Amino acid sequence: MNDTTKQPLPVSEEELLLQKQYAAQVRALLGAEGKPHFVYIETFGCQQNEADSERLLGMACEMGYEVTDVSANADLLLVNTCAVREHAELKALSITGQFKHLKAKNPQLFIGICGCMVSQEHRKADIKNKYPYIDFLFGTSLVYRFPQILYETMSGHCRKLYADEAVQRIAEDLPVRRASKTQAWVSIMYGCNNFCTYCVVPYVRGRERSRSAEKIEEEVRALVQGGCREVTLLGQNVNSYHGADCPDFPTLLHRICTIEGDFTVRFMTSHPKDASAALIDCMASEKKIARQFHLPLQSGSSKTLRRMNRRYTKEQYLALVNALREKIPDLTLTTDIIVGFPGESEEDFEQTLDVLQRVRFDSIFSFLYSPRRGTPAADYPDQIDPEEKKKRFRRLTDLQNEISLEKNREMIGKVLPVFVQGQSKTNAEMFSGRTEGNKLVHFKAAPQLIGKTVPMKITDATFFALFAEPFES
Ligand code: SAH
Ligand code: SF4
Repeated sequence: MNDTTKQPLPVSEEELLLQKQYAAQVRALLGAEGKPHFVYIETFGCQQNEADSERLLGMACEMGYEVTDVSANADLLLVNTCAVREHAELKALSITGQFKHLKAKNPQLFIGICGCMVSQEHRKADIKNKYPYIDFLFGTSLVYRFPQILYETMSGHCRKLYADEAVQRIAEDLPVRRASKTQAWVSIMYGCNNFCTYCVVPYVRGRERSRSAEKIEEEVRALVQGGCREVTLLGQNVNSYHGADCPDFPTLLHRICTIEGDFTVRFMTSHPKDASAALIDCMASEKKIARQFHLPLQSGSSKTLRRMNRRYTKEQYLALVNALREKIPDLTLTTDIIVGFPGESEEDFEQTLDVLQRVRFDSIFSFLYSPRRGTPAADYPDQIDPEEKKKRFRRLTDLQNEISLEKNREMIGKVLPVFVQGQSKTNAEMFSGRTEGNKLVHFKAAPQLIGKTVPMKITDATFFALFAEPFES
């Protein structure tokens, strides 16, 4: 077997240099027009996509664009799409549809679509045939080649719809324009080998490949030196991280925690089948790692889990939660649940409710099962009636809202360190931040606290947020 986890294929230095040359050529084309140029990006989906968008904006800035958050002002519009559920695809297509009138007003405008949705052949064909005003398209494997794609589109005066590379690789040292100075996404691995039967990710993001620990450490060190206070390590299954110079994820975490500076480490996502005792010990012992764990359950029924190809049972999942809580009693625990997977019976669904009651997650992300073309589950004959799915979804969220409210109310009166993130958009006096467990907190404060961690006394709670006031001892 060709194990790309152990030997990730890099994009070579020559290829990256070539992209720098294309970037310089775009810059020259824009410079010749003697006016500023703006780029706007619309991002759908997960944090990996957010991280990709930050790289695309980094490259756009290198090419001479300035970033705008007003689409109507843009000379270059990008839509970075998600394919995990149909809803995300429809939203991306709807936004893309709305951009048509901008192109009609400004024929000089370039519009490009990228990301997971267009790594699927049928969506690529949709764009080709139904969205003729889209100038260029590239899937997840070609992010690093954005300067070349844009240059070829601009200079060739024709549409460029690129096919993905057959084997996805790792491109290091791309320029990044981060949305925040104090919090950063750091991808540690890409792709997925798990092939859960409902999920499109392995098809659109390719096989698992891990970055070298040295490169990850270099990135984290530079971030911390630049004032970053929180890094979130990203991968579809961080527990199967295996860098050329680092055997596993706990070792990587230990190495990152030895980097000097005052910062917090988070990570996502952990597949329960690969969460090891070493990982739990590492979290319990390393003070820089936030006491927060996102551990997607998907279903509480062992039968459904088997049909999902998750490779753990309800009992194994519960045992893992116990092991985590034994070593880290103050852990904040969150999960993902899919409602209405094919063949899910009332009893199966009740097993999921049972896990919710036993574990008492702090919060959950719940999704209606969405059939994804090309995945095994999309062809299962026993699809669940949409109305039944919605009913179960409401029952699930009603139960979890009660649990979240109870758990949040238990925090009233406590004094907790809160990382101040920013000012409310609607009320200049109100700010928001996150607890170590990543719970949302609202409070009145002063702007100079942004980026700092300050003690706050929790005064009130709803099921989705805490309210607090700065605490002076
Ligand atoms: N790699 C991560 C999550 C990737 S997708 C993991 O394994 O946990 C994020 C979440 O979307 C999944 O955890 C799952 O709950 C949900 N999801 C994925 N495919 C889906 C589908 N076809 N329908 C509904 N939800 C889906
Ligand atoms: Fe999808 Fe499963 Fe891979 Fe997560 S682990 S990305 S749910 S296939």
